[in-house]
Amino acid sequence: MPDYNLKVSELIELSPTAKAVRFELNGQPFLFTPGQFIMLQVDLEKSGKFKVNSGKPKIQKRAFSMSSSPTEENFIEVTVKTTEEAFFSDYLVNYLEEGEEFLIKGPFGQFYFNENETKKNVMLIGAGSGISPLMSILRFIDSKNLDVNSHIIFCNKTESEILWRDEIEKLSEKENISHTFTLTREEWDGEKGRVNKEMIGNNLVDANETDFYLCGPPLFVKDIEKMLVLELDVPKENIKKEVYD
Ligand SMILES: Cc1cc2nc3c(=O)[nH]c(=O)nc-3n(C[C@H](O)[C@H](O)[C@H](O)COP(=O)(O)OP(=O)(O)OC[C@H]3O[C@@H](n4cnc5c(N)ncnc54)[C@H](O)[C@@H]3O)c2cc1C
Repeated sequence: MPDYNLKVSELIELSPTAKAVRFELNGQPFLFTPGQFIMLQVDLEKSGKFKVNSGKPKIQKRAFSMSSSPTEENFIEVTVKTTEEAFFSDYLVNYLEEGEEFLIKGPFGQFYFNENETKKNVMLIGAGSGISPLMSILRFIDSKNLDVNSHIIFCNKTESEILWRDEIEKLSEKENISHTFTLTREEWDGEKGRVNKEMIGNNLVDANETDFYLCGPPLFVKDIEKMLVLELDVPKENIKKEVYD
């Protein structure tokens, strides 16, 4: 697996705390399966704008799932949301500029969508930055016009944090794609509260014929998996998980 030195070609503001970062491929193929992640490595002090404290190394690396579809040949994209005590993600969202070069390793990971083995239905369930690999899967299903029904359930604290909202709503105009957005800390007209049995059950055609992709913080993923297995009789082997800890 080669290493890649790729330049940031575009930064897209998605919310006050999140950005999409695109790396130009320049005709170089980058093969991956939707759902997988890469390791991004950079010298955080190179541009002179960011300071690394507490004696930590200035060269840092972190894992980020690709949010672009493998069918996109011009760039790979990651979707970054700052954490409560952000460091690398703070750099990416608030200090990074176009043109900066990263050392990129990958792809890695067993959390991926396989178009040759997929069940007829997929349910993508994510929270916060956990939307990243789910976007890649959704975009891939759409761009290849796969005969797969997909429902995405996306949980956030507030409305402004619903990343990729316009695109998900647009994709949901297709017959085989639908979505549920739910908010835990703000009043609105849509679904409220944490992902629950009804939100999943109302959009579930057949538990045995559905593959589930869960991505988000450890407790979120654990709770959803428990609910699927114990309350909705989903076979464990139908559940794929990616935990951002
Ligand atoms: C497989 C995988 C895929 C992932 N994919 C994504 C994704 O697609 N999108 C996404 O958003 N996240 C993703 N993550 C999470 C991501 O890799 C990071 O873990 C996340 O961004 C938190 O990293 P951080 O450096 O911001 O915070 P941390 O590593 O938690 O560091 C925070 C700590 O650094 C300290 N700190 C803050 N600023 C400084 C400073 N200037 N100097 C020194 N110390 C400082 C803080 O006080 C705090 O203690 C993924 C994780 C995994 C495992």
